[in-house]
Amino acid sequence: MTQQYQLFIDGQYVAPSNGRTMPSVNPYTGEVWAHIPDTDAADVEHAVAAAERAYQTVWRQTPGVARAVLMNKLAGLIEAQAERMSIIETTDNGKVIRETSSQMKWVGRQLRFFAGYADKLYGQQIPLDQPDVLDYVMYEPYGVVGLITAWNSPLSLLANKLAPALAAGNCVVVKPSEHASASTLEFAALVQEAGFPPGVFNVVTGGAQVGQALVNAKGVSRVSFTGSPGVGREIAAAAGRRLIPVTLELGGKSPNIIFDDADIGKAVIGALAGIFGATGQTCVAGSRLLVQRGVYEQVLKGVAERAAQIRLGDPLDPKTEMGTVANEPQFKRILGSIERAQQVGARLVTGGRRATGPGLDKGYFIEPTVFADVSNDSELAQEEIFGPVLAVIPFDTEEQAISMANDSRYGLAAGIWSRDINRVMRVSRAMQAGSVWVNTYRALAAQAPFGGFKESGIGRERGEVGLHEYLTTRNVMIDFSNAERDPFAIKN
Ligand code: NAD
Repeated sequence: MTQQYQLFIDGQYVAPSNGRTMPSVNPYTGEVWAHIPDTDAADVEHAVAAAERAYQTVWRQTPGVARAVLMNKLAGLIEAQAERMSIIETTDNGKVIRETSSQMKWVGRQLRFFAGYADKLYGQQIPLDQPDVLDYVMYEPYGVVGLITAWNSPLSLLANKLAPALAAGNCVVVKPSEHASASTLEFAALVQEAGFPPGVFNVVTGGAQVGQALVNAKGVSRVSFTGSPGVGREIAAAAGRRLIPVTLELGGKSPNIIFDDADIGKAVIGALAGIFGATGQTCVAGSRLLVQRGVYEQVLKGVAERAAQIRLGDPLDPKTEMGTVANEPQFKRILGSIERAQQVGARLVTGGRRATGPGLDKGYFIEPTVFADVSNDSELAQEEIFGPVLAVIPFDTEEQAISMANDSRYGLAAGIWSRDINRVMRVSRAMQAGSVWVNTYRALAAQAPFGGFKESGIGRERGEVGLHEYLTTRNVMIDFSNAERDPFAIKN
């Protein structure tokens, strides 16, 4: 029996008004395991109207401390349900359970971190030039915000947006990816159980048209999007036409740089974590491994040998190290990139094909793939593949490494492996990237801001700066002087 899901609007699960659903395929079995509403603009309008109502009638009058209590309760519920929720997410997108279960804890951590801000949205009092004018700044929510997420980590990407949005006092309408909507729809039940007023949290599902309808909905005052740069551009253009702000968390082609003086054992593990964690389907994938010539062969051998031994299998088995690719279009796209790289003569060291064998044949498995001696200006080094495909690139000098690392239209993350503190300082400052990791990789924290330079995005998530994405600024000036003013000159 397949699972049937409904939309979540105004505190209730409801059928889509057009009655349509679409199948969700388990990428490990290749079978349809659930049906998701394939809704349209009419339900988006209902959801936005419910959110506007909730904002006007309840949520904007709800004090920060009460919002924090609800957010902490929701955090407790998701933590208690982490196992069940991670099974749902893994079934839907093929990401290994060892990662999805830790991501559920991340959802709780984000909610708790931002709940702490909900009753501390302190404004400022500004001393002006005139002593008899009181000026102060208030930070206020936008009202209704639209949150659009990708399929690779549905709930953890949602938490990055939802937690600050709620703490700031906004109501939300969420549009998860059509390839992995189940965990977000299940999460809605926890929001309800936590006791959030109806309409504060709504979920609409479907494809691009539903996302477009959300961005274009009159009641939506801000949008936050995680996904591909192409769609990010379209959303920014649509938001631009409406003159509403957007946060964009987009793709990357991040350099992971290993210098001769690094702890090579640790660096090799960091290189593997960078590209084969989450089957490479992570925006921060360290998909370009830049290695200094003196340790190049040693690193290449270490990475390739371990890559060939990565344990593929049932994503729900905690022993599995790499799961499937999340969906068929993505599976075909990755194999296409590998084929094109081989056609232009890239040196394949390991992998390169669909992975087959016992327990693998029905799933979208791809062998952990390593190409060596890659040119930094090739497609393999410049285009985001979003899969388990590593381009290893040699370099000689620090200057060369910096120049190659930055020679990309992306700027999401960068890794540096070195024991020389002066070098670490120089290179980390030179990186055109929103996140720089030194002697670690793919390490995240609720407190630390995250986001991209260049085509990797606009705005930041997490940390205090992430909260301010969901707040707008009001300045109030109170003149308590008795002096008469000149009505024909601006007052300053
Ligand atoms: P995608 O851009 O295809 O889709 C993302 C979401 O946007 C989905 O919900 C989709 O239905 C919706 N959408 C599609 N077209 C739309 C439109 N015209 N208007 C409004 N919404 C629309 O991305 P994806 O394939 O789901 O995810 C992979 C991409 O996401 C990769 O590029 C990856 O790097 C990026 N990503 C970025 C981060 C980050 O934090 N920077 C994190 C994870 C994934």
